[in-house]
Amino acid sequence: MEIKTIGVVGAGTMGQGIAQVAIQNGFRVILRDLEDRILQHARARIDTALKKLVDDGKISEGQKGEMLRLLTTTTNMPELKNADFIVEAASEEFPAKKAIFQELDKTCRPGTILATNTSSISITKIGATTRRPEKVIGMHFMNPVPVLQLVEVIRGVETTGETAATTHDLAKRLGKTTVEAADFPGFLANRILMPMVNEAIFALMEGVGTVEAIDTVMRLGMKHPMGPLALADLIGLDVCLAVLRTLQEGLGDPKYRPAPLLVRMVDAGYLGRKTGRGFYKHS
Ligand code: NAD
Repeated sequence: MEIKTIGVVGAGTMGQGIAQVAIQNGFRVILRDLEDRILQHARARIDTALKKLVDDGKISEGQKGEMLRLLTTTTNMPELKNADFIVEAASEEFPAKKAIFQELDKTCRPGTILATNTSSISITKIGATTRRPEKVIGMHFMNPVPVLQLVEVIRGVETTGETAATTHDLAKRLGKTTVEAADFPGFLANRILMPMVNEAIFALMEGVGTVEAIDTVMRLGMKHPMGPLALADLIGLDVCLAVLRTLQEGLGDPKYRPAPLLVRMVDAGYLGRKTGRGFYKHS
């Protein structure tokens, strides 16, 4: 079946980016979150991002209008029944994803693929909460979605080759390049990235260097486009903590234990850019 409408569940950092890239590539999008306030904020953020493209001469004002007309927002899960493909990008907690996938399984047409943008949670475990594990797959976009080209595709134990092929194809139609990773905690991207971010937080906690020193070492010394602490703020400290806990639990190795400073900052509500404060202050 041809995919024309994509349902996106969760209108936070990632859901906004996925919705934006989808409408830019001519797909209709139904974006779902729990509150109108969150959806209005997401629409405003997408509007601002498209306006920047107009200002930069990359798209016309008319094209921007056409793209925005492709976007529908809703707090009502049953509206997702009209989607041909779902990407779930809600909070990184298994109980939340379980509830969402069970609801999606009841709501969506039997043929609809249910993809998750999870950073670390087992695709097999998410698939097993539904009656269609063969149609559940990991489709892991990178942040910021409009900028970064990679999508990691992860098959669960039951995911069929057909589901994987459709997912790769859709990612390509969104202008992305795909890589397959096996269904192990953190897959490839976060298995490699998060221990580095965590180590940077340990180094800060132990007074080995300041925030600025740590990020400068990695930017100027290793040619990373941004330092690990700035990156943690971009990702969201709560997301980093959730991923590290999944790595620690799933791989059973204490080397993945989250730095106590990270736990303390999340407890304080310092989640990075999305709350205005993390390792840096953000306006
Ligand atoms: P976020 O906290 O910015 O947004 C999550 C959104 O999901 C919130 O708006 C919340 O209200 C909404 N939500 C929660 N339960 C919901 C439900 N039942 N129905 C609809 N919406 C619901 O989180 P994020 O950073 O956008 O991350 C979303 C997912 O993407 C997570 O699984 C995360 O691990 C993954 N991810 C994040 C990044 C990153 O850099 N932040 C990168 C790749 C993947």
